[in-house]
Amino acid sequence: MRAQLIDGKAVAAKLRMAVAAEVSDLVKRGVKPGLAVVLVGEDVASQVYVRSKVKQTVDVGMASLEHRLPADTSEATLLALIERLNHDSEVDGILVQLPLPEQIDDNRVLRAIDPSKDVDGFHPINVGQLATGTGGIVPCTPLGSLLLLKSVCNNLAGLDAVIVGRSNIVGKPMAQLLLGESCTVTVGHSRSRDLPAICRRADILVAAVGRPEIIRGAWIKPDAIVIDVGINRIPTAAGKPRLVGDVAFAEASEVASAITPVPGGVGPMTIACLLRNTVEAARRRRGLA
Ligand code: NDP
Repeated sequence: MRAQLIDGKAVAAKLRMAVAAEVSDLVKRGVKPGLAVVLVGEDVASQVYVRSKVKQTVDVGMASLEHRLPADTSEATLLALIERLNHDSEVDGILVQLPLPEQIDDNRVLRAIDPSKDVDGFHPINVGQLATGTGGIVPCTPLGSLLLLKSVCNNLAGLDAVIVGRSNIVGKPMAQLLLGESCTVTVGHSRSRDLPAICRRADILVAAVGRPEIIRGAWIKPDAIVIDVGINRIPTAAGKPRLVGDVAFAEASEVASAITPVPGGVGPMTIACLLRNTVEAARRRRGLA
């Protein structure tokens, strides 16, 4: 393999250590940051994510407040819980695990979270602040992806960046972050014409598509940095699904200069950035530098 492997587990572990040090400093000042995680229903993948988030929250010394609601919870009940958490002084961050059951409107719920506690960075106020470069809380997966990029290339200014995917949670905020780094940004999506040619222009290629190995080695510019956000579960004969990204890793790693693996790339960064956002929210809410 030609490319340098970008080790998301190692970068995430370093970030968690920095967060733990900040938490310890806050605890000495009498502040214990708290993250409330709300899970509605029994979705298996969501339960796994929530378990990891709770464990890592506790591991860095923060308080974890878990709220598990049944799948038939009404939107009004969930909104009432969020209202309570908004006013709870022990809660610095509120995370509502998506997807929500169909009777609940995701957007209405995300808009109900106090923007200063919106540690996922999905509230329109935080989205607007990211777009205008005026601070706010940045969504965890794009933030983690940017930190991984910076772990191999500190100055991204002037580079051509291509993001494939334009979702509100990954593609669009990633584009804003890379614009903020003075990259020249192109966003590809399902209606883009000649995606391989668009990708071949990229010094930085971020894949957030949700299609297993759609991005082939031949789509990658020699020496590009490749960040693979995709997590796709492929059924296997043995029963346990195999995880693959949106990038054909074996091919791409012969062309790129650096690449994230799946698993072990962006995934571990997402939760580490959630912890970072929660500490940051705890500081800001109390006016601490
Ligand atoms: P969405 O389904 O919300 O968005 C996918 C995007 O990819 C859309 O913009 C869509 O275009 C585009 N797309 C779909 N098919 C194609 C295609 N054939 N060619 C070009 N573009 C296409 O997904 P998310 O952004 O939520 O997630 C993307 C991936 O990242 C998923 O695999 C997800 O599991 C993973 N993920 C990983 C996280 C982590 O922690 N590592 C966190 C969040 C997500 P259009 O808009 O035109 O439909």
